[in-house]
Amino acid sequence: MRVDEVAAPQSLAEAMAFLKRRSDAVPWAGGTLLLSRNDRRSTDRPMPVLDLGGIPELTSINRSDRYLELGACVTLASILALPSSLSLEPLREAIKLVGTATVRAMATIGGNVAARSAFMTCFAALACMDAAVELRDASGTRWVGIHTLVTDHDTPGFPEAMLLSRVRIPTQPWDAAIVRRLGEPARGETVPASFAATARYEKGTLSELRLVAAGRTIVRDRNLELSLVGKRFPLAAKDVEATRLEASARARDTGFDEARSDRYGAYVAAFLGSGEETI
Ligand SMILES: Cc1cc2nc3c(=O)[nH]c(=O)nc-3n(C[C@H](O)[C@H](O)[C@H](O)COP(=O)(O)OP(=O)(O)OC[C@H]3O[C@@H](n4cnc5c(N)ncnc54)[C@H](O)[C@@H]3O)c2cc1C
Repeated sequence: MRVDEVAAPQSLAEAMAFLKRRSDAVPWAGGTLLLSRNDRRSTDRPMPVLDLGGIPELTSINRSDRYLELGACVTLASILALPSSLSLEPLREAIKLVGTATVRAMATIGGNVAARSAFMTCFAALACMDAAVELRDASGTRWVGIHTLVTDHDTPGFPEAMLLSRVRIPTQPWDAAIVRRLGEPARGETVPASFAATARYEKGTLSELRLVAAGRTIVRDRNLELSLVGKRFPLAAKDVEATRLEASARARDTGFDEARSDRYGAYVAAFLGSGEETI
């Protein structure tokens, strides 16, 4: 990436003023992804860089009764250091899969969520936790569900000329959750796909379920989830097998290769069949 201008704003207002003038600016958070792979469409054109590292608002962590709000530049290591009572287990487990301790000390949650080239490891976990994101552009600020960062083709769809400023995570605990890598990176990829699932149940009956696999594309089948709500948890063997086949087929349709699609189906089956709580 060739750079023609670097801005190092000290506030969000300054950052937004720069983004208004240079809508093609590349936000730079920890830089761990930008330095290790091409996260942007290749171009010969020099790009302006917007360094987010000096903006205090982006490193704040706030908690209310129902939510935890993480500034986009909160590092993955800082999230791991939060008290474990915060019901963040799916996200913490996803973070433990990211790089090394040195990488996690620089890498930010915003950079993980806003990646353009693939859904990074935290995305599936955050989608299963019903996370919302705060987006800012020249026209203002708005909260949207994290699923709005997915295109109609199930690929990453973080909008251009936009900043992610906060990630909001509901803190109501899940009764069961699991996060796994979906095998090693496929050829030409530097980051493996990941699988996450969360569930709540009442008196042994599933009341809420989220199943997500994310890599170059994302798999989330709400019809499948809804069809399982109301069933006994763990599921009966015949339902587990039917769900395994349906989940694998859906992953294949979304562009996952054969091996990962099968592994996704197997993880879904293991989660629903055992009610596995181990993350
Ligand atoms: C050795 C190594 C191993 C890794 N392994 C993994 C892995 O297993 N799983 C994984 O998920 N990642 C992995 N990564 C990639 C990376 O460390 C993480 O994805 C990290 O969370 C990215 O955060 P960052 O702050 O460094 O992002 P950056 O590199 O600064 O930015 C990433 C992208 O997000 C955009 N961006 C950043 N912040 C914002 C914002 N606030 N608003 C709008 N856009 C923004 C940038 O423009 C860029 O396109 C690895 C990296 C290395 C070096």
